[in-house]
Amino acid sequence: MKALPEVKVGVLNFQGAVSEHVEALNKTLKELNLKGQVLTVKTLEQLEEVKGLVIPGGESTTIGRLSAKELAPRIVERAASGMPILGTCAGLILMAKEVYDAKIGSVEQPLLRLMDMKAVRNFFGRQGESFEAPLTIPLLGREPFPGVFIRAPVVEKVWGEAEALATYNGKIVAVQQGRLLATVFHPELAEDLRLHKYLIKLVLDTL
Ligand code: GLN
Repeated sequence: MKALPEVKVGVLNFQGAVSEHVEALNKTLKELNLKGQVLTVKTLEQLEEVKGLVIPGGESTTIGRLSAKELAPRIVERAASGMPILGTCAGLILMAKEVYDAKIGSVEQPLLRLMDMKAVRNFFGRQGESFEAPLTIPLLGREPFPGVFIRAPVVEKVWGEAEALATYNGKIVAVQQGRLLATVFHPELAEDLRLHKYLIKLVLDTL
């Protein structure tokens, strides 16, 4: 039997829920019985080492600004050549081609613009209005996924090659475009590794 390749994946490490994703990815590799490594990514050298990337939740303006100069152009190139990426919450905002804010309207912020979708920042209210809701995500099987929403955006529309993976109250909350995945909720804060497992599966497909 051919040995499975070692899987190196990274979490973009400028701001936000970095350690939570590192922990979830480590658990995922363990549960899948894979040899691998989870790196935090802040430099081009670190980015070159990984075969898949998570862009965490946090503050999309901050993460966008801090990564704009060096990392962003290379992330865009890597995505174009097929590297799987999971963006959660602020990560989804950064991956959207179009963004506006629910309260203040148009915003100027650096974006990766990787996915054919329009995101609305702060759609689900303030920190204190955070909530959890079971989501049906057919891609992940029948059991509902625990969606943790924290100052979450929503996806107003998708076009082109992007596809909605899940909705909540009729609004799009998870999107896939090829090997790119994005959720408005925080899978790293739920005791459910199915999205991280799916990301690792996409990474394995590329090795
Ligand atoms: N509201 C934040 C933003 O617009 C995202 C919130 C989050 O990632 N938890 O960047």
